[in-house]
Amino acid sequence: MTAVSDNLPTAALQRLDAAHHMHPFTAGAELAARGARVITRADGVWLTDSEGNRILDGMAGLWCVNVGYGREELAEAAARQMRALPYYNTFFQTTHVPAIALAAKLAELAPDDLNHVFFAGSGSEANETNIRMARHYWARKGKPGKQIIISRRNAYHGSSMGSASLGGMAGMHAQGGLPIPGIVHIDQPNWWAEGGEMSPEEFGRARARQLEETIAALGEDRVAAFIAEPVQGAGGVIIPPESYWPEIQRICDAHDILLIADEVICGFGRTGEWFASQSYRIRPHIVTVAKGLASGYQPIGGSIVCDAVAEVIGGGEFNHGYTYSGHPVACAVALENLRLLEEERVVEHVRDTAAPHLARAWAGLADHPLVGEAVSRGLLASLALTPDKGARAPFAEPGAAGLICRERAFANNLVMRHVGDRMVIAPPLVITPAEIDELIARARAALDETHAALDARGLMGAAA
Ligand SMILES: *Cc1c(COP(=O)(O)O)cnc(C)c1O
Repeated sequence: MTAVSDNLPTAALQRLDAAHHMHPFTAGAELAARGARVITRADGVWLTDSEGNRILDGMAGLWCVNVGYGREELAEAAARQMRALPYYNTFFQTTHVPAIALAAKLAELAPDDLNHVFFAGSGSEANETNIRMARHYWARKGKPGKQIIISRRNAYHGSSMGSASLGGMAGMHAQGGLPIPGIVHIDQPNWWAEGGEMSPEEFGRARARQLEETIAALGEDRVAAFIAEPVQGAGGVIIPPESYWPEIQRICDAHDILLIADEVICGFGRTGEWFASQSYRIRPHIVTVAKGLASGYQPIGGSIVCDAVAEVIGGGEFNHGYTYSGHPVACAVALENLRLLEEERVVEHVRDTAAPHLARAWAGLADHPLVGEAVSRGLLASLALTPDKGARAPFAEPGAAGLICRERAFANNLVMRHVGDRMVIAPPLVITPAEIDELIARARAALDETHAALDARGLMGAAA
């Protein structure tokens, strides 16, 4: 067999891919029939595929390449660390400099008394840690009955058994016997789709109060924690009404449960602060991180834990950990990534330049006949596609418009993702205003072509 390299024709790569590579969240047969797009190189916010197309990456990979592609400093940091110490574990009374340095740096960046880090290889793994840590915390505090974790429908917390159980994705729960016991879901603060006649602020408070009602129904002595993304990402970039988080915080304070903020997407500058917990004034006991921590250059995640929880957990042996917890190469790359974000003032660039520019330009898409709402927070933005703006109506055939729009975006060399009939973007944080304008122009072209395609196929009907 000839060596597989990017010298092979695209069709040959696609055939081998379809024959041997099982893709995440993909219908294999459909992918095989159409062929996957083969990405070969990237630089800044631009991807290059095997046909030589240059594509604007409106999704920063999977919400992770915050610092942009092609940073030599990160490649160098990885190579340096691989030569010095490619691997060592952090079990059994050992440690190494990259893990020490990254934990100390995260403690410095994270708000309040979030001073301790338990490393994992991904966001899913970190949330597995959080389930066990929250339950074990209460057991050690002499309250072993506090085991239930409350989460939200249409939340995303990962794809492993525990993390997908925390998530509220019906399609995931339908496969593989989820959720695990002791996970309870409340409704999401998605005003556009579910707010009915309420104002956004009334609705935000009402959805937050479901947490209090659920704690009351279950009994406070059975609830360990509430977990949520400050802004839901994979659920469609659902930006909560301003009334939501203050009410959630009040309820967590009043009822002696842990608050876990899943900042896997929101962390490291995405909302214009280092953490969205700062943007929304949330005081979590545990923060989940991954994705932007190493800008996706290395797989790494972790739980940043407050003093009180760390003290209780550390008082005995926590029988938990991963071979790659605190992997030295991943930690070295993460540290270098954080150095770049800090020295190049990338978080300030998001807050002062990129996010305000995107907010104005993105909001302009609301005049498009297909767009029901166009919202953003930091460099997270979404559009609700609708056949009837005034009624905030969903399509009769849900998901078709979103899928067509994603494909039309791709045809215009823009990566814009769809979640049902919501379109979402989360570009690299280093995106410039000129690149944002280019992104918006391509998104508008995709919307126009989607509108024409929906008309031609008779798909503009609203759900009854
Ligand atoms: C992506 C994501 C995860 C899971 O992270 P993986 O690294 O894919 O395991 C968890 N929580 C949130 C909010 C995410 O967006």
